[in-house]
Amino acid sequence: MSTVNASGWRPEMGQSDVMAAETYTGNRALMLEEALIFEIGDSHTTGVDFDPAPKVQSRLGGLERNREIGLPGLSEPETVRHYTRLSRQNYAIDLGLFPLGSCTMKHNPRLNEKVARMKGFIDVHPLQPQETVQGALQVINELAHWLIDLTGMHGVAMSPKAGAHGELCGILAIKAALDARGEDRPVILVPESAHGTNPATAAFAGFSVENIPATPEGRVDVAALKARLGPDVAGVMITNPNTCGLFERDLKVISDAVHAAGGYVYCDGANFNAIVGRVRPGDLGVDAMHINLHKTFSTPHGGGGPGSGPVVLSEALAPYGPIPFVAKLPDGSFKLVEEEDATAMQPETFGRMTAFHGQMGMFTRALSYIMSHGADGLRQVAEDAVLNANYVLRSLEGTLEAPFGASGPCMHEALFTDNGLAEGFSTLDVAKGLIDEGYHPMTVYFPLVVHGAMLVEPTETESKAALDQFIGALRSVANRAKQGDPSLKSAPHHAPRRRLDETLAARKPMLVWKEADLSVAAE
Ligand SMILES: *Cc1c(COP(=O)(O)O)cnc(C)c1O
Repeated sequence: MSTVNASGWRPEMGQSDVMAAETYTGNRALMLEEALIFEIGDSHTTGVDFDPAPKVQSRLGGLERNREIGLPGLSEPETVRHYTRLSRQNYAIDLGLFPLGSCTMKHNPRLNEKVARMKGFIDVHPLQPQETVQGALQVINELAHWLIDLTGMHGVAMSPKAGAHGELCGILAIKAALDARGEDRPVILVPESAHGTNPATAAFAGFSVENIPATPEGRVDVAALKARLGPDVAGVMITNPNTCGLFERDLKVISDAVHAAGGYVYCDGANFNAIVGRVRPGDLGVDAMHINLHKTFSTPHGGGGPGSGPVVLSEALAPYGPIPFVAKLPDGSFKLVEEEDATAMQPETFGRMTAFHGQMGMFTRALSYIMSHGADGLRQVAEDAVLNANYVLRSLEGTLEAPFGASGPCMHEALFTDNGLAEGFSTLDVAKGLIDEGYHPMTVYFPLVVHGAMLVEPTETESKAALDQFIGALRSVANRAKQGDPSLKSAPHHAPRRRLDETLAARKPMLVWKEADLSVAAE
């Protein structure tokens, strides 16, 4: 159980020394402490009463468990309270502005939820006979067409389950296309400002990754990239708009050069929210691009929940895309094309990435979002997202340094550095101070191309009042860091936990509960 500290107050203390007393429970009004389920539960408590299991002849050949499994049990009301309390320690887009850069944490319209819960969608099972899920297949097909139209591409693989999974899909398609040409090109070029998943994906697919530097204005150094192209280069992975919040204006020039050198262009489309309805990546020579439905098209994300990362493909790469996929047959019906149909319908496919086709709940939400906005509404989404980010960028002028402020307006996110903070104060202190103000911190120390990066993506779903309050909070915390307010060094003060050793937590995560460890810690 959590330890309860004695009150910090002593009779000899003056009025100014009076601190809020520690509580008996460790709770602070509505902020409720919660122990691990292993600490509060035991294997003999249960929320349901079953009759004892009948004796059966074991067919496990002596492999059956011969001791208690030791899982903690709670009654139903205790279970409900445990998880509800935990959920309240979480920050969520439904609570407030979530300024995490390169994440597009926007409001998830409730209309999407209503559609996703419609009777015909909610209970579909991936192993149902196809003639019983024609409506679901039609939804996937319709969404696929929207994504193709919005990106100006030739085809789309709907099965990848997240952005990073989509990257892998695109890179595997490039690999298959090169194999078909009989070419061994072992290198993928990745600009410095790329999202970390880009080099990780290329390396995971067996390529060696080479960095391309950024220009002082935060964009890909085209001359350096062109100089590196050659017969060993499979392609490039470029994020556009990039993670400095800037549009890569030279993408068409880059694509032409890469194609002329026999390579392919992968575009990381996670930031599509900034350009949807305004720019078609297909017009810029992109061969493959993932779209995060959970970012641009407002399906919920975070916390490891389901995402969806469809990959749009150029005419050159589409034949190599994965199975299964949905095809519309001449008689108007829909077919999920699987392995057994591949020889006839997708002979050059690189294969299968997932057990089942895709995230039905994300597809229905994304299509609901797209259809409720329409083409003109989607364009306005991009325009408002960019407007809001520029409002944040300009409002903090004089407070935080914008490294590429001189490069003109930003796209969907505003980038700042730690330049100007007092000696000994860092981006981390500003982030922790924001927690006390009731905000999830912005993305910090990413992108790597600037010192102490703070990346703020407000998205289009925030009102001016919400932006003004956030800007006021960030300005206040940044000014404390500039003036060297010592209390900021130990922030957060009002969160369920103080400042934690995040490096230790990342390097030595304690993921397994051991009774012995806790009894030592409690002594
Ligand atoms: C979010 C993001 C990704 C990864 O997408 P996931 O869905 O989280 O796997 C890749 N690149 C960029 C630029 C992103 O912002």
